[in-house]
Amino acid sequence: MSAHPIAVVPVRAGVLPAGSAEVVAEALSLGDATVLLIGSQLGSAAAELAGVASGVQLAEVGDFAPARWAAALTNVVADASVVLLPASPDGRDLAARLAAAVGRPLVANAMEISEDHAIVVSHGGRVQHEVRPSGPFVATLQPGGRGVERGPAEVVGAANVHLPIDDGIADPEVAEVEPPDATTMDLAESPRIVGGGAGLMVGAGADDPVDRRFTQLTAIGEAIGASMGATRVVTDAGWVSHDRQIGTTGVVVDPDLYLAFGISGAVQHTAGLGHPEHIISVNTDPHCPMMAMADLAVVADANATLDELAKLLGVTSLA
Ligand SMILES: Cc1cc2nc3c(=O)[nH]c(=O)nc-3n(C[C@H](O)[C@H](O)[C@H](O)COP(=O)(O)OP(=O)(O)OC[C@H]3O[C@@H](n4cnc5c(N)ncnc54)[C@H](O)[C@@H]3O)c2cc1C
Repeated sequence: MSAHPIAVVPVRAGVLPAGSAEVVAEALSLGDATVLLIGSQLGSAAAELAGVASGVQLAEVGDFAPARWAAALTNVVADASVVLLPASPDGRDLAARLAAAVGRPLVANAMEISEDHAIVVSHGGRVQHEVRPSGPFVATLQPGGRGVERGPAEVVGAANVHLPIDDGIADPEVAEVEPPDATTMDLAESPRIVGGGAGLMVGAGADDPVDRRFTQLTAIGEAIGASMGATRVVTDAGWVSHDRQIGTTGVVVDPDLYLAFGISGAVQHTAGLGHPEHIISVNTDPHCPMMAMADLAVVADANATLDELAKLLGVTSLA
């Protein structure tokens, strides 16, 4: 099979979805790849790929319309050996329709992709297995898993391509687009995260159970527009669901702000933390790795600090 991968990145109003740079880098690592951005305000989105791709194709086709886009892309991807999209909400939606339109298997939520196989994760990241499609395939790549090493930030060359959109194809009508809810949004896409570790479980009892503490952490996160995450000690103990676990065997995140409460900073946790611009850590041990990584290291009891924060923020509704 001659290598001709194509990365297809759906863009809304100039905003690249999570994992776009990784999809582009993965496609380029496979060979002579085409990078196609499809959507609206693509010029600014292309600029975000500086240091990852030197040239991209832009299909300005307006608002997200996965059924119409899939039909329009059929000819574009016809000769591609692998079609890669980010496993973002729009990427997943478009990938499934595209795979059906071109009659190819869909390999969803891959961590790694090559010309003839993919490593796929399931069960919230706990199981990895290899998939070997018998021919060309469409794949989505999980955001945050691969990472990207950017080269020098040269100007990205962009060429406009015309994609005929068939307005006769029905797409769901968008009633309203609401901003994401920090308490439920995908951790991988959260710009702010409040993380809880085993330190939040210390001294818990019938009067002050652990689930109340994590409910409080979630409520404080909500008050500052942050999503709640946790360490594996907490998820293994069953206090928080596995999809909230940050780390090598959990979700790989990349927030701007990370607040760590009672987290030691083990490498399996911090390796999944990305590169937060600001880290605040609250811990009774001033010498643990999380405190060493922090911009602001607060030596204090994490639960007492959360109680104070709850008062300051007016967070009262606890279970
Ligand atoms: C194969 C493998 C994969 C793993 N994958 C992951 C992963 O994906 N994600 C992950 O998180 N871990 C993972 N782990 C586990 C990891 O090695 C650590 O055990 C875990 O991250 C530690 O979690 P923690 O910081 O909550 O707990 P601990 O390491 O026990 O730290 C608790 C911290 O709380 C502090 N503390 C105690 N009391 C208080 C208090 N009252 N107030 C404030 N601070 C207090 C302590 O000083 C300490 O720093 C993995 C391990 C293995 C072997």
